[in-house]
Amino acid sequence: MIQTTPTTKTRPQPNLENSYDVVVIGGGPAGSTVAALVAEQGRSVLLLERTAVPRFHVGESLIPETYWPLERLGLLDRMRESAFPKKFSVQFVSEGHKESAPFYFDEHNPHESSVTWQVERGIFDEMLIDRAVELGASCRTDAQVLDVMFTEDRAKGVRVKTEDGTRDIACQVVIDASGQSAFLASRLNLRVPDPKLRMATIWTYYENAIRGKGKDEGATLILQTPGKKSWFWYIPLPDNIVSIGCTGTLDYMFGDKLPAADVYERELKRCPALQRRLEPAQRVADHFTTKDFSYTTSKSAGSGWLLVGDAGGFIDPVYSSGVFLALKSGWMAADAIAAAFKTNDFSETTLGSWVPEYRAGVSRFRKLVYAFYSTEFSFGSFLKQHPEYHSAVVDILIGNVFKPELDEMFEAMGTP
Ligand SMILES: Cc1cc2nc3c(=O)[nH]c(=O)nc-3n(C[C@H](O)[C@H](O)[C@H](O)COP(=O)(O)OP(=O)(O)OC[C@H]3O[C@@H](n4cnc5c(N)ncnc54)[C@H](O)[C@@H]3O)c2cc1C
Repeated sequence: MIQTTPTTKTRPQPNLENSYDVVVIGGGPAGSTVAALVAEQGRSVLLLERTAVPRFHVGESLIPETYWPLERLGLLDRMRESAFPKKFSVQFVSEGHKESAPFYFDEHNPHESSVTWQVERGIFDEMLIDRAVELGASCRTDAQVLDVMFTEDRAKGVRVKTEDGTRDIACQVVIDASGQSAFLASRLNLRVPDPKLRMATIWTYYENAIRGKGKDEGATLILQTPGKKSWFWYIPLPDNIVSIGCTGTLDYMFGDKLPAADVYERELKRCPALQRRLEPAQRVADHFTTKDFSYTTSKSAGSGWLLVGDAGGFIDPVYSSGVFLALKSGWMAADAIAAAFKTNDFSETTLGSWVPEYRAGVSRFRKLVYAFYSTEFSFGSFLKQHPEYHSAVVDILIGNVFKPELDEMFEAMGTP
């Protein structure tokens, strides 16, 4: 059963030193990845997570390209041995309740990387922290970063509060991986909201919902409601649990100030394809809400600091890109940090050398998200008119977004 309440498990807590090569704020997928890969270089790394671990988190569906960072981290065997359902495809149900054929990722690329997983985030994120510790990082949980210290423009360390009190820790590089808190971006006034994506989500968990059979058992379903007013995700998890979330504009979801459970039920009634799957099911958790989560940042690196994962921006849940981008940015940042230590150059140029390529990839996801929410646009009609772009659409759905040649498709789509 999915754990939605704080854990009572305790982790060994290392003593804190006065200084480290690198301090990472936040023990989500981005923070653990960069901590692991920098520690692997032989650098001293402190990973600070404000909550106890494991902790509950939204964002359970992975996309195929997550395979490569997981391979780089040496975690593929643990994933293969896990109880996480295998995800072979994503299937869309239109506002007219028409069910598309599933997009099977292995038809696009017959390689093991085309099969991915649906994960319980508490367990998955803890596995990443454990890996960072195995590779040499020190991880302190229940440790909240209160401030980042600067000398002139250069980040020089953090102020952290633990059960032992508050203290300052010096370092060469501060990495902000604090997720939607966007700790450093908020302090430096770098956060830029996306006016086209002012969304809200309500989600909960059901037991015993109807799943697909065989290869379709772990499929993600994306179900739109009439008028494209909202859409549901349907993500099968271990123990016969399904995560089901509903997203719409902030105004549509919460403009009437109704309780979240009422809005959720209202939208469920508008989605017969989902109701059918929930007939034998029972809801086994409260309704959770999150809103206004789409933003970017005006920059992702500065002198002695870097932003990775959601701390540098988040697009939208619809294509399940968040965890992949968290891992990928953690990986790219770790390579830039290796170069910075080699040359003793912690400037914005060196630490941020990966950012233009990364942001170009993110913008390809974002353009496909804009298309999804456009009332005039339909993927079915677009692909009928432009079958030559079928593989470009699948490339983006699997996360293969770091390819400039994909941009041509957006010209044809009208979202250049
Ligand atoms: C509604 C919704 C649905 C989503 N669905 C999916 C999905 O299906 N698939 C997918 O891939 N992604 C999904 N995402 C996105 C995904 O959840 C995130 O992109 C992902 O968690 C980002 O990882 P991260 O490491 O950057 O941040 P997080 O996972 O948020 O981790 C940040 C960590 O930093 C810690 N922290 C914050 N401030 C401090 C501080 N001051 N000191 C110490 N620690 C701190 C937090 O406690 C947290 O543990 C979804 C997002 C939303 C909003």
